[in-house]
Amino acid sequence: MEHKQTIAIEIGLQTHVLRTCPIHHSIFCDDDVDPSGAFALAVELVRQHTPYVEEFHDDAHALTDLLSDTIGTAPLSCPHCANLAQPNTGRSVGADLSVV
Ligand SMILES: [Zn+2]
Repeated sequence: MEHKQTIAIEIGLQTHVLRTCPIHHSIFCDDDVDPSGAFALAVELVRQHTPYVEEFHDDAHALTDLLSDTIGTAPLSCPHCANLAQPNTGRSVGADLSVV
């Protein structure tokens, strides 16, 4: 993964717009969180010339674009957890046993 995108993801994680599944470590987007906080933080980091975002060369727009892209393409829940929640997976055997 490109380092610039890692920065965008970390900003998302810091502002809780993006979350990491504690089980699968997959990144997903929390739909209930207003993403404007992440954009505000991104702009602030660039404005303050934070070394963390120096790769963006004071171009806040480049960072917010990437952030928007990262949040927009993230799934709304952990894809692995979503798979587990569906019926007709290997888990149905265990569920049957627990009923008995
Ligand atoms: Zn998961």
